[in-house]
Amino acid sequence: MIIFSNVNKWYGSYQALTNINAEISQGEVIVVCGPSGSGKSTLIRTVNRLEEIQSGQILYEGHDVHGTDANLNRLRSRIGFVFQSFNLFPHLSVLDNVILSPTKVKGMKASAAKKLALALLERVGMAHKANAYPAQLSGGQQQRVAIARALAMEPPVMLFDEPTSALDPEMVGEVLNVMRGLAKEGMTMMCVTHEMNFAREVADKIWFMDAGQILETADPVQFFNQPKHPRANRFISDLR
Ligand code: ATP
Ligand code: MG
Repeated sequence: MIIFSNVNKWYGSYQALTNINAEISQGEVIVVCGPSGSGKSTLIRTVNRLEEIQSGQILYEGHDVHGTDANLNRLRSRIGFVFQSFNLFPHLSVLDNVILSPTKVKGMKASAAKKLALALLERVGMAHKANAYPAQLSGGQQQRVAIARALAMEPPVMLFDEPTSALDPEMVGEVLNVMRGLAKEGMTMMCVTHEMNFAREVADKIWFMDAGQILETADPVQFFNQPKHPRANRFISDLR
């Protein structure tokens, strides 16, 4: 579904991604982990082209994401993205935040979009706050609304870049539970997270990054018990 081939990215003279080769199949949950500055955010942001690459290729649903004729609007409407920081529109109610894209981008009728939005808010446990404004919600609640908003475009893939790292500890669980639910329902997901219990439990594969490279790709049992790469071994030992 997503294929990275020989992807390289530089920020000026600094190489942030080196020769990335990796693949995400439909229904797979990938957890990207690794030390700070290893290139996790950079990598995930290349998928919907929030970051450009200088060489290599990324295919999404067979389309060349960084090709000169790539249709960015179409691409972004087919990829849900939830960031670390809460990025709801502050002047819109929870419901209107979720309704916005399906009506504006997809041309969905207001009544259908509202029905969809309410169902998604129900799914993330936020239907009771449909008429509230973002400032009236906790961080965990805002993040769950952000997930509902991304899902409203019915994307085949969801990208998460540390969606829980800005949350107070007691709110992390509610967001991870929503992500767990999505994974169980077969959503294709690429998640950057430091939540190693989530990774252990939900990931089909772990990609371990360091210094702009994917040093190890493994299933979670193998990764956490017998990492092959010495750098991954050190990373895991430091977690304990
Ligand atoms: P963290 O766990 O702290 O979020 P990360 O693995 O997501 O780290 P990235 O944000 O992808 O790391 O950064 C990878 C490297 O690229 C870092 O060395 C960072 O300083 C550098 N970098 C990131 N963004 C830029 C930028 N806009 N300009 C220059 N260098 C950047
Ligand atoms: Mg990051």
